[in-house]
Amino acid sequence: MHSTKAPRAVAYCHCNDCRRVTGAPVAAFAAFDETALSFVPNEGRSVSVNSGVTRSFCECCGTPLTGRYEYLPGMVYVSLGIVDQADELAPQLHAHESNRLSWLHIDDECKRITRSARDELNAATGEVD
Ligand SMILES: [Zn+2]
Repeated sequence: MHSTKAPRAVAYCHCNDCRRVTGAPVAAFAAFDETALSFVPNEGRSVSVNSGVTRSFCECCGTPLTGRYEYLPGMVYVSLGIVDQADELAPQLHAHESNRLSWLHIDDECKRITRSARDELNAATGEVD
């Protein structure tokens, strides 16, 4: 995966869906502009389990690759763990903080919100729901 632009946002997500998809106690993702992204050799296989959400994964190794959400058109969420530049992309936000596992403590100065990062992202892009 390669992006010609920096991500619009980098965030942790503590929601149940992200936990299940990543298999990790918390997900961390970067949200990229669809038009700036390219995938080599391709974006893998797409599945849609929840309405309005399309996820892709690598057919060879099963790695989750991307998430696309109808309410965030033109944006592609990529798990930080598969981004080569992850070390330079520190999260700015904890989304769904109220769903955080009680034993998980990440000591940082990031903003913590109880809802999804959607509002923050839409505010950043100037789009209205
Ligand atoms: Zn989530």
